[in-house]
Amino acid sequence: EVRVRFAPSPTGNLHVGGARTALFNYLFARSKGGKFVLRIEDTDLERSTKVSEEAVLRDLSWLGLEWDEGPDVGGNYGPYRQSERNELYKQYADELLESGYVYRCFCSNEELEKMKETAKLKGLPPVYTGKWATASDAEVQAELEKGTPFTYRFRVPREGSLSIDDLIRGEVSWSLDTLGDFVIMRSNGQPVYNFCVTVDDATMAISHVIRAEEHLPNTLRQALIYKALGFRMPYFAHVSLILAPDRSKLSKRHGATSVGQVVDGGKYYVNVNFREMGYLPQAMVNYLGLLGWSDGTENEFFTMDQLVQKFSIERVSKSGTIFDSVKLRWMNGHYLRSLPSEELTKAIGERWKSAGILNKSQGEFVEEAVALLKDGIDLVPDSDKALLNLLSYPLRDTLASPEAKPLLEDGLSEVAASLLAACDTGELIAVLEEGHAGWQKWVKGFGKALKRKGKALFMPLRVLLTGKLHGPDMGASIVLLHKAGRTGIVNPQVG
Ligand code: GLU
Repeated sequence: EVRVRFAPSPTGNLHVGGARTALFNYLFARSKGGKFVLRIEDTDLERSTKVSEEAVLRDLSWLGLEWDEGPDVGGNYGPYRQSERNELYKQYADELLESGYVYRCFCSNEELEKMKETAKLKGLPPVYTGKWATASDAEVQAELEKGTPFTYRFRVPREGSLSIDDLIRGEVSWSLDTLGDFVIMRSNGQPVYNFCVTVDDATMAISHVIRAEEHLPNTLRQALIYKALGFRMPYFAHVSLILAPDRSKLSKRHGATSVGQVVDGGKYYVNVNFREMGYLPQAMVNYLGLLGWSDGTENEFFTMDQLVQKFSIERVSKSGTIFDSVKLRWMNGHYLRSLPSEELTKAIGERWKSAGILNKSQGEFVEEAVALLKDGIDLVPDSDKALLNLLSYPLRDTLASPEAKPLLEDGLSEVAASLLAACDTGELIAVLEEGHAGWQKWVKGFGKALKRKGKALFMPLRVLLTGKLHGPDMGASIVLLHKAGRTGIVNPQVG
Protein backbone atom coordinates (compact mmCIF):
# COMPACT_ATOMS: atom_id res chain seq x y z
CA GLU A 1 0.00 0.00 0.00
CA VAL A 2 1.22 3.47 -0.86
CA ARG A 3 1.47 5.66 2.22
CA VAL A 4 3.13 9.06 2.05
CA ARG A 5 3.40 11.87 4.53
CA PHE A 6 3.86 15.58 4.78
CA ALA A 7 5.76 16.39 7.96
CA PRO A 8 5.88 20.13 8.64
CA SER A 9 7.66 21.65 11.60
CA PRO A 10 5.19 24.13 13.07
CA THR A 11 7.70 26.93 13.48
CA GLY A 12 6.30 29.51 11.07
CA ASN A 13 4.26 30.01 7.93
CA LEU A 14 3.64 27.37 5.31
CA HIS A 15 6.29 28.27 2.76
CA VAL A 16 5.67 27.71 -0.96
CA GLY A 17 8.39 25.05 -0.89
CA GLY A 18 6.54 23.18 1.85
CA ALA A 19 3.26 23.57 0.01
CA ARG A 20 4.81 22.12 -3.14
CA THR A 21 6.16 19.14 -1.16
CA ALA A 22 2.73 18.61 0.37
CA LEU A 23 1.10 18.83 -3.06
CA PHE A 24 3.48 16.29 -4.66
CA ASN A 25 2.85 13.89 -1.77
CA TYR A 26 -0.88 14.40 -2.08
CA LEU A 27 -0.85 13.88 -5.85
CA PHE A 28 1.28 10.77 -5.51
CA ALA A 29 -1.04 9.29 -2.89
CA ARG A 30 -4.20 10.08 -4.84
CA SER A 31 -2.79 8.85 -8.13
CA LYS A 32 -1.84 5.52 -6.53
CA GLY A 33 -4.97 5.10 -4.46
CA GLY A 34 -2.81 5.42 -1.34
CA LYS A 35 -2.94 7.38 1.89
CA PHE A 36 -1.71 10.89 2.60
CA VAL A 37 -0.62 11.34 6.22
CA LEU A 38 0.01 14.61 8.03
CA ARG A 39 2.56 14.47 10.85
CA ILE A 40 3.51 17.45 12.96
CA GLU A 41 7.23 17.55 13.72
CA ASP A 42 7.24 19.58 16.88
CA THR A 43 10.32 18.14 18.58
CA ASP A 44 11.85 21.61 18.66
CA LEU A 45 9.74 22.67 21.60
CA GLU A 46 11.12 26.17 21.74
CA ARG A 47 10.32 27.09 18.17
CA SER A 48 7.13 25.09 17.68
CA THR A 49 3.85 26.86 18.36
CA LYS A 50 0.22 25.88 18.40
CA VAL A 51 -0.79 28.85 16.22
CA SER A 52 1.71 27.81 13.60
CA GLU A 53 0.34 24.26 13.60
CA GLU A 54 -3.17 25.63 13.19
CA ALA A 55 -2.07 27.94 10.37
CA VAL A 56 -0.38 25.08 8.51
CA LEU A 57 -3.50 22.90 8.77
CA ARG A 58 -5.68 25.82 7.68
CA ASP A 59 -3.51 26.59 4.66
CA LEU A 60 -3.26 22.97 3.53
CA SER A 61 -7.05 22.70 3.73
CA TRP A 62 -7.39 25.95 1.83
CA LEU A 63 -5.28 24.48 -0.96
CA GLY A 64 -7.54 21.43 -0.97
CA LEU A 65 -4.85 19.00 0.20
CA GLU A 66 -6.94 16.85 2.46
CA TRP A 67 -5.09 14.33 4.58
CA ASP A 68 -6.38 10.88 5.47
CA GLU A 69 -4.63 10.68 8.83
CA GLY A 70 -3.34 13.44 11.04
CA PRO A 71 -3.42 15.11 14.44
CA ASP A 72 -6.96 16.40 13.99
CA VAL A 73 -8.57 13.45 12.17
CA GLY A 74 -6.67 10.62 13.88
CA GLY A 75 -5.91 7.28 12.22
CA ASN A 76 -4.46 3.88 13.03
CA TYR A 77 -0.86 5.03 13.31
CA GLY A 78 -1.18 7.88 15.80
CA PRO A 79 -0.42 9.94 17.65
CA TYR A 80 0.51 12.25 14.77
CA ARG A 81 2.49 14.82 16.74
CA GLN A 82 6.09 13.96 17.53
CA SER A 83 5.78 15.58 20.95
CA GLU A 84 3.26 12.86 21.82
CA ARG A 85 5.46 9.95 20.71
CA ASN A 86 8.34 10.18 23.18
CA GLU A 87 7.73 6.75 24.70
CA LEU A 88 8.02 5.14 21.32
CA TYR A 89 11.33 6.86 20.61
CA LYS A 90 12.67 5.82 24.00
CA GLN A 91 11.63 2.23 23.39
CA TYR A 92 13.43 2.03 20.05
CA ALA A 93 16.49 3.84 21.39
CA ASP A 94 16.75 1.26 24.16
CA GLU A 95 16.35 -1.52 21.65
CA LEU A 96 19.35 -0.17 19.72
CA LEU A 97 21.32 0.14 22.95
CA GLU A 98 20.56 -3.47 23.67
CA SER A 99 21.62 -4.63 20.23
CA GLY A 100 24.82 -2.58 20.35
CA TYR A 101 24.05 -0.20 17.46
CA VAL A 102 23.96 2.55 20.02
CA TYR A 103 26.15 3.18 23.05
CA ARG A 104 26.05 5.51 26.00
CA CYS A 105 28.40 8.45 25.69
CA PHE A 106 29.38 10.20 28.92
CA CYS A 107 31.53 12.90 27.33
CA SER A 108 30.96 16.39 28.65
CA ASN A 109 30.52 19.32 26.27
CA GLU A 110 34.04 20.51 27.11
CA GLU A 111 35.50 17.16 26.17
CA LEU A 112 33.61 17.16 22.88
CA GLU A 113 34.83 20.68 22.09
CA LYS A 114 38.40 19.65 22.80
CA MET A 115 38.04 16.64 20.52
CA LYS A 116 36.84 18.86 17.70
CA GLU A 117 39.73 21.27 18.16
CA THR A 118 42.30 18.50 18.16
CA ALA A 119 40.83 17.08 14.96
CA LYS A 120 40.95 20.52 13.39
CA LEU A 121 44.60 21.00 14.31
CA LYS A 122 45.43 17.64 12.78
CA GLY A 123 43.40 18.44 9.67
CA LEU A 124 40.97 15.60 10.35
CA PRO A 125 37.16 15.67 10.00
CA PRO A 126 35.47 16.54 13.32
CA VAL A 127 34.07 13.07 13.91
CA TYR A 128 33.50 11.54 17.31
CA THR A 129 36.51 9.54 18.37
CA GLY A 130 35.83 9.39 22.08
CA LYS A 131 36.49 6.42 24.24
CA TRP A 132 32.85 5.55 24.89
CA ALA A 133 32.55 3.80 21.54
CA THR A 134 34.81 1.09 22.91
CA ALA A 135 34.41 1.44 26.66
CA SER A 136 34.14 -1.66 28.79
CA ASP A 137 31.01 -2.60 30.74
CA ALA A 138 32.84 -1.80 33.95
CA GLU A 139 33.68 1.73 32.80
CA VAL A 140 30.08 2.36 31.80
CA GLN A 141 28.80 0.94 35.08
CA ALA A 142 31.08 3.23 37.05
CA GLU A 143 29.70 6.36 35.30
CA LEU A 144 26.12 5.18 35.74
CA GLU A 145 26.73 4.79 39.46
CA LYS A 146 28.16 8.30 39.62
CA GLY A 147 25.07 9.58 37.86
CA THR A 148 27.03 11.14 35.00
CA PRO A 149 24.63 12.37 32.31
CA PHE A 150 24.92 10.55 28.96
CA THR A 151 23.68 10.70 25.40
CA TYR A 152 22.82 7.80 23.12
CA ARG A 153 25.28 7.70 20.28
CA PHE A 154 24.85 5.74 17.06
CA ARG A 155 27.79 3.57 16.06
CA VAL A 156 28.62 4.41 12.44
CA PRO A 157 30.79 1.96 10.49
CA ARG A 158 34.29 3.49 10.22
CA GLU A 159 34.55 2.77 6.53
CA GLY A 160 32.52 1.71 3.54
CA SER A 161 29.69 3.53 1.85
CA LEU A 162 25.95 3.59 1.71
CA SER A 163 23.69 4.30 -1.22
CA ILE A 164 20.04 4.72 -1.93
CA ASP A 165 18.15 4.59 -5.18
CA ASP A 166 16.36 7.90 -5.27
CA LEU A 167 13.25 7.97 -7.46
CA ILE A 168 14.18 11.40 -8.81
CA ARG A 169 17.96 11.55 -8.57
CA GLY A 170 18.91 7.93 -9.20
CA GLU A 171 21.71 6.45 -7.11
CA VAL A 172 22.93 8.68 -4.32
CA SER A 173 25.85 7.43 -2.28
CA TRP A 174 27.86 8.57 0.67
CA SER A 175 31.11 7.39 2.09
CA LEU A 176 30.82 6.71 5.80
CA ASP A 177 34.29 7.63 7.01
CA THR A 178 33.56 11.31 7.59
CA LEU A 179 30.20 10.91 9.30
CA GLY A 180 31.19 10.00 12.82
CA ASP A 181 29.00 8.56 15.57
CA PHE A 182 25.98 10.82 15.97
CA VAL A 183 23.68 11.40 18.90
CA ILE A 184 20.15 10.01 18.69
CA MET A 185 19.03 10.95 22.21
CA ARG A 186 20.24 13.86 24.30
CA SER A 187 21.18 13.59 27.95
CA ASN A 188 17.84 15.12 28.97
CA GLY A 189 16.03 12.26 27.23
CA GLN A 190 15.03 14.35 24.21
CA PRO A 191 15.28 12.26 21.04
CA VAL A 192 17.06 13.87 18.11
CA TYR A 193 15.21 14.83 14.94
CA ASN A 194 16.64 12.23 12.54
CA PHE A 195 15.87 9.46 14.95
CA CYS A 196 12.25 10.56 15.42
CA VAL A 197 11.67 10.83 11.68
CA THR A 198 12.97 7.32 11.08
CA VAL A 199 10.98 5.74 13.88
CA ASP A 200 7.88 7.61 12.71
CA ASP A 201 8.20 6.78 9.03
CA ALA A 202 8.82 3.13 9.87
CA THR A 203 6.06 2.75 12.45
CA MET A 204 3.60 4.73 10.34
CA ALA A 205 4.33 2.30 7.49
CA ILE A 206 5.35 5.10 5.13
CA SER A 207 6.16 3.58 1.74
CA HIS A 208 7.54 6.65 -0.05
CA VAL A 209 9.33 9.62 1.46
CA ILE A 210 8.94 12.57 -0.89
CA ARG A 211 10.65 15.65 0.47
CA ALA A 212 12.99 18.53 -0.33
CA GLU A 213 16.54 17.99 -1.53
CA GLU A 214 17.90 19.77 1.52
CA HIS A 215 17.04 16.67 3.57
CA LEU A 216 19.51 14.45 1.68
CA PRO A 217 22.16 14.63 4.43
CA ASN A 218 19.49 13.47 6.89
CA THR A 219 18.64 10.55 4.63
CA LEU A 220 22.11 9.09 5.18
CA ARG A 221 21.64 9.05 8.95
CA GLN A 222 18.09 7.82 8.64
CA ALA A 223 19.12 4.98 6.34
CA LEU A 224 21.64 3.78 8.93
CA ILE A 225 18.95 3.84 11.61
CA TYR A 226 16.53 1.89 9.39
CA LYS A 227 19.12 -0.82 8.93
CA ALA A 228 19.94 -1.00 12.60
CA LEU A 229 16.29 -1.29 13.59
CA GLY A 230 15.71 -3.91 10.91
CA PHE A 231 12.96 -1.89 9.23
CA ARG A 232 12.44 -2.00 5.52
CA MET A 233 13.56 1.27 3.98
CA PRO A 234 10.94 3.34 2.15
CA TYR A 235 11.52 4.64 -1.37
CA PHE A 236 13.03 8.10 -1.32
CA ALA A 237 12.34 10.96 -3.72
CA HIS A 238 14.19 14.21 -3.10
CA VAL A 239 12.64 17.16 -4.89
CA SER A 240 14.89 20.00 -6.06
CA LEU A 241 14.90 23.43 -4.54
CA ILE A 242 12.70 26.33 -5.52
CA LEU A 243 14.89 29.25 -6.54
CA ALA A 244 14.46 33.00 -6.92
CA PRO A 245 14.75 34.44 -10.45
CA ASP A 246 18.46 35.15 -9.81
CA ARG A 247 18.86 31.46 -8.88
CA SER A 248 19.57 32.28 -5.25
CA LYS A 249 17.59 30.73 -2.42
CA LEU A 250 14.01 32.03 -2.48
CA SER A 251 13.47 34.39 0.43
CA LYS A 252 11.20 37.18 1.57
CA ARG A 253 13.22 39.81 -0.22
CA HIS A 254 11.90 38.28 -3.45
CA GLY A 255 8.32 39.02 -2.39
CA ALA A 256 5.69 36.78 -0.90
CA THR A 257 6.92 33.29 -0.09
CA SER A 258 4.24 31.75 2.08
CA VAL A 259 0.82 30.40 1.31
CA GLY A 260 -0.85 31.74 4.39
CA GLN A 261 0.38 33.17 7.60
CA VAL A 262 0.46 32.68 11.33
CA VAL A 263 -1.72 35.48 12.59
CA ASP A 264 0.43 37.71 14.74
CA GLY A 265 -1.77 39.42 17.30
CA GLY A 266 -4.70 39.43 14.90
CA LYS A 267 -2.60 40.97 12.17
CA TYR A 268 -1.91 39.73 8.66
CA TYR A 269 1.05 40.92 6.67
CA VAL A 270 -0.46 41.04 3.23
CA ASN A 271 2.79 41.25 1.33
CA VAL A 272 4.17 37.97 2.63
CA ASN A 273 1.33 35.58 2.00
CA PHE A 274 -0.56 34.73 -1.14
CA ARG A 275 -3.86 33.95 0.52
CA GLU A 276 -4.31 37.45 1.89
CA MET A 277 -3.07 38.94 -1.37
CA GLY A 278 -6.12 37.51 -3.04
CA TYR A 279 -4.68 34.47 -4.79
CA LEU A 280 -7.09 31.63 -5.49
CA PRO A 281 -6.29 28.11 -4.26
CA GLN A 282 -6.91 26.71 -7.77
CA ALA A 283 -4.23 29.00 -9.18
CA MET A 284 -1.77 28.24 -6.38
CA VAL A 285 -2.23 24.49 -6.82
CA ASN A 286 -1.84 24.68 -10.59
CA TYR A 287 1.25 26.85 -10.32
CA LEU A 288 2.89 24.81 -7.54
CA GLY A 289 2.18 21.65 -9.51
CA LEU A 290 4.32 23.00 -12.34
CA LEU A 291 7.24 23.85 -10.08
CA GLY A 292 9.53 21.04 -11.09
CA TRP A 293 6.96 18.89 -12.84
CA SER A 294 5.30 18.89 -16.25
CA ASP A 295 3.20 16.36 -18.10
CA GLY A 296 5.60 16.51 -21.03
CA THR A 297 3.35 18.69 -23.18
CA GLU A 298 3.02 22.46 -23.48
CA ASN A 299 -0.17 22.36 -21.45
CA GLU A 300 -0.02 24.63 -18.42
CA PHE A 301 -3.53 24.58 -17.05
CA PHE A 302 -4.39 21.72 -14.73
CA THR A 303 -7.15 21.38 -12.19
CA MET A 304 -6.41 19.33 -9.09
CA ASP A 305 -8.19 16.33 -10.63
CA GLN A 306 -6.16 16.62 -13.80
CA LEU A 307 -2.95 16.84 -11.77
CA VAL A 308 -3.92 13.68 -9.92
CA GLN A 309 -4.51 11.94 -13.24
CA LYS A 310 -1.28 13.07 -14.85
CA PHE A 311 1.20 13.22 -11.99
CA SER A 312 4.13 10.88 -11.95
CA ILE A 313 7.22 11.05 -9.81
CA GLU A 314 9.44 10.08 -12.77
CA ARG A 315 8.59 13.37 -14.44
CA VAL A 316 9.74 15.47 -11.48
CA SER A 317 12.78 17.48 -12.49
CA LYS A 318 16.22 16.90 -11.05
CA SER A 319 17.28 20.53 -11.34
CA GLY A 320 16.18 23.55 -9.35
CA THR A 321 13.14 25.44 -10.52
CA ILE A 322 12.54 29.16 -10.54
CA PHE A 323 9.63 30.72 -8.72
CA ASP A 324 8.08 33.14 -11.20
CA SER A 325 5.62 35.36 -9.35
CA VAL A 326 4.63 37.12 -12.58
CA LYS A 327 3.48 33.83 -14.03
CA LEU A 328 1.61 32.92 -10.86
CA ARG A 329 -0.21 36.26 -11.03
CA TRP A 330 -1.07 35.71 -14.69
CA MET A 331 -2.34 32.24 -13.87
CA ASN A 332 -4.47 33.66 -11.09
CA GLY A 333 -6.05 36.02 -13.63
CA HIS A 334 -7.01 33.03 -15.73
CA TYR A 335 -8.71 31.30 -12.80
CA LEU A 336 -10.30 34.51 -11.55
CA ARG A 337 -11.93 35.18 -14.90
CA SER A 338 -13.13 31.58 -15.12
CA LEU A 339 -15.08 31.87 -11.87
CA PRO A 340 -18.88 31.82 -12.25
CA SER A 341 -19.83 35.45 -12.84
CA GLU A 342 -21.95 35.73 -9.67
CA GLU A 343 -18.99 34.56 -7.64
CA LEU A 344 -16.61 36.99 -9.29
CA THR A 345 -19.12 39.83 -8.94
CA LYS A 346 -19.59 39.06 -5.27
CA ALA A 347 -15.86 38.92 -4.55
CA ILE A 348 -15.07 42.13 -6.38
CA GLY A 349 -18.16 43.93 -5.10
CA GLU A 350 -17.20 43.11 -1.54
CA ARG A 351 -13.70 44.30 -2.22
CA TRP A 352 -14.93 47.65 -3.59
CA LYS A 353 -17.14 48.08 -0.59
CA SER A 354 -14.46 47.21 1.94
CA ALA A 355 -11.97 49.46 0.13
CA GLY A 356 -14.46 52.31 0.58
CA ILE A 357 -14.99 52.93 -3.13
CA LEU A 358 -18.62 51.88 -3.17
CA ASN A 359 -21.39 52.38 -0.63
CA LYS A 360 -23.05 49.10 -1.52
CA SER A 361 -21.56 45.91 -2.87
CA GLN A 362 -24.51 44.50 -4.74
CA GLY A 363 -26.52 45.40 -7.75
CA GLU A 364 -26.46 45.92 -11.43
CA PHE A 365 -23.72 48.50 -11.28
CA VAL A 366 -21.23 46.05 -9.82
CA GLU A 367 -22.24 43.35 -12.25
CA GLU A 368 -21.74 45.63 -15.23
CA ALA A 369 -18.54 47.10 -13.88
CA VAL A 370 -17.04 43.65 -13.30
CA ALA A 371 -18.02 42.47 -16.76
CA LEU A 372 -16.40 45.57 -18.23
CA LEU A 373 -13.23 45.55 -16.19
CA LYS A 374 -12.41 41.92 -15.52
CA ASP A 375 -10.00 41.49 -18.40
CA GLY A 376 -7.57 43.83 -16.68
CA ILE A 377 -7.83 42.13 -13.29
CA ASP A 378 -5.54 39.26 -12.22
CA LEU A 379 -6.11 39.59 -8.50
CA VAL A 380 -9.23 40.80 -6.70
CA PRO A 381 -7.41 43.77 -5.12
CA ASP A 382 -6.39 44.93 -8.63
CA SER A 383 -10.03 45.76 -9.15
CA ASP A 384 -9.70 48.90 -7.00
CA LYS A 385 -7.40 50.51 -9.46
CA ALA A 386 -9.46 49.40 -12.42
CA LEU A 387 -12.61 51.03 -11.06
CA LEU A 388 -10.89 54.16 -9.82
CA ASN A 389 -9.37 54.55 -13.26
CA LEU A 390 -12.80 54.43 -14.78
CA LEU A 391 -14.16 56.94 -12.31
CA SER A 392 -11.43 59.50 -12.86
CA TYR A 393 -11.10 62.12 -15.59
CA PRO A 394 -7.50 63.21 -15.79
CA LEU A 395 -8.24 64.94 -19.07
CA ARG A 396 -5.49 67.47 -18.85
CA ASP A 397 -2.81 64.80 -18.40
CA THR A 398 -4.00 62.94 -21.44
CA LEU A 399 -4.10 66.00 -23.63
CA ALA A 400 -0.57 66.82 -22.64
CA SER A 401 0.68 63.40 -23.66
CA PRO A 402 2.50 63.04 -26.98
CA GLU A 403 0.11 60.30 -27.99
CA ALA A 404 -2.78 62.75 -27.85
CA LYS A 405 -1.10 65.29 -30.07
CA PRO A 406 -2.15 63.80 -33.41
CA LEU A 407 -5.67 63.65 -32.06
CA LEU A 408 -5.62 67.35 -31.31
CA GLU A 409 -4.37 68.14 -34.79
CA ASP A 410 -6.81 65.73 -36.33
CA GLY A 411 -9.87 67.57 -35.19
CA LEU A 412 -10.18 66.87 -31.51
CA SER A 413 -11.55 70.38 -31.16
CA GLU A 414 -14.14 69.76 -33.88
CA VAL A 415 -15.38 66.68 -32.03
CA ALA A 416 -15.12 68.54 -28.74
CA ALA A 417 -17.36 71.37 -29.93
CA SER A 418 -20.12 68.99 -31.03
CA LEU A 419 -19.78 66.94 -27.87
CA LEU A 420 -20.02 70.05 -25.73
CA ALA A 421 -23.20 71.02 -27.56
CA ALA A 422 -24.66 67.55 -26.91
CA CYS A 423 -23.85 67.96 -23.22
CA ASP A 424 -25.31 71.47 -23.01
CA THR A 425 -28.63 70.54 -24.52
CA GLY A 426 -28.95 67.51 -22.26
CA GLU A 427 -28.92 65.27 -25.31
CA LEU A 428 -26.08 63.08 -24.06
CA ILE A 429 -27.64 62.55 -20.64
CA ALA A 430 -30.90 61.47 -22.25
CA VAL A 431 -28.96 59.04 -24.41
CA LEU A 432 -27.12 57.54 -21.45
CA GLU A 433 -30.43 57.06 -19.63
CA GLU A 434 -31.29 54.62 -22.40
CA GLY A 435 -28.24 52.52 -21.65
CA HIS A 436 -25.87 50.91 -24.05
CA ALA A 437 -28.34 50.58 -26.94
CA GLY A 438 -29.12 54.30 -26.71
CA TRP A 439 -25.43 55.15 -26.77
CA GLN A 440 -24.78 53.02 -29.84
CA LYS A 441 -27.56 54.66 -31.80
CA TRP A 442 -26.47 58.12 -30.77
CA VAL A 443 -22.78 57.69 -31.54
CA LYS A 444 -23.61 56.55 -35.05
CA GLY A 445 -25.58 59.71 -35.78
CA PHE A 446 -22.93 61.83 -34.08
CA GLY A 447 -20.26 60.39 -36.39
CA LYS A 448 -22.39 60.83 -39.47
CA ALA A 449 -22.93 64.51 -38.76
CA LEU A 450 -19.17 65.02 -38.44
CA LYS A 451 -18.35 62.70 -41.34
CA ARG A 452 -16.15 60.63 -39.07
CA LYS A 453 -16.09 56.99 -38.26
CA GLY A 454 -13.79 54.31 -36.85
CA LYS A 455 -10.64 55.52 -35.19
CA ALA A 456 -11.11 59.11 -36.37
CA LEU A 457 -14.35 59.21 -34.42
CA PHE A 458 -13.69 56.98 -31.46
CA MET A 459 -10.22 58.10 -30.47
CA PRO A 460 -11.11 61.77 -29.94
CA LEU A 461 -14.36 60.75 -28.24
CA ARG A 462 -12.52 58.40 -25.92
CA VAL A 463 -10.02 61.06 -24.95
CA LEU A 464 -12.75 63.60 -24.34
CA LEU A 465 -15.05 61.34 -22.42
CA THR A 466 -12.71 59.11 -20.46
CA GLY A 467 -9.56 61.15 -20.37
CA LYS A 468 -7.61 58.09 -21.46
CA LEU A 469 -6.17 56.92 -24.73
CA HIS A 470 -6.91 53.30 -24.00
CA GLY A 471 -9.34 51.41 -21.83
CA PRO A 472 -12.26 49.05 -21.74
CA ASP A 473 -15.18 49.42 -24.13
CA MET A 474 -15.95 53.14 -24.27
CA GLY A 475 -19.72 53.02 -24.62
CA ALA A 476 -20.07 50.59 -21.74
CA SER A 477 -17.69 52.69 -19.63
CA ILE A 478 -19.63 55.88 -20.19
CA VAL A 479 -22.98 54.27 -19.55
CA LEU A 480 -21.58 52.82 -16.36
CA LEU A 481 -20.15 56.14 -15.26
CA HIS A 482 -23.50 57.76 -15.77
CA LYS A 483 -25.11 55.03 -13.73
CA ALA A 484 -22.57 55.56 -10.98
CA GLY A 485 -23.55 59.22 -10.82
CA ARG A 486 -27.27 58.56 -10.93
CA THR A 487 -27.39 55.79 -8.33
CA GLY A 488 -25.02 57.39 -5.86
CA ILE A 489 -23.36 54.02 -5.38
CA VAL A 490 -19.90 55.51 -5.47
CA ASN A 491 -18.64 56.88 -2.21
CA PRO A 492 -18.60 60.68 -2.73
CA GLN A 493 -15.17 60.88 -1.15
CA VAL A 494 -13.73 58.92 -4.05
CA GLY A 495 -12.67 60.40 -7.37
N1 GLU B 1 9.96 18.48 9.41
C1 GLU B 1 10.77 18.59 8.24
C2 GLU B 1 10.63 19.96 7.65
O1 GLU B 1 9.70 20.67 7.96
C3 GLU B 1 10.41 17.57 7.19
C4 GLU B 1 11.08 16.30 7.42
C5 GLU B 1 10.87 15.25 6.36
O2 GLU B 1 10.08 15.46 5.43
O3 GLU B 1 11.48 14.21 6.51
O4 GLU B 1 11.47 20.37 6.88
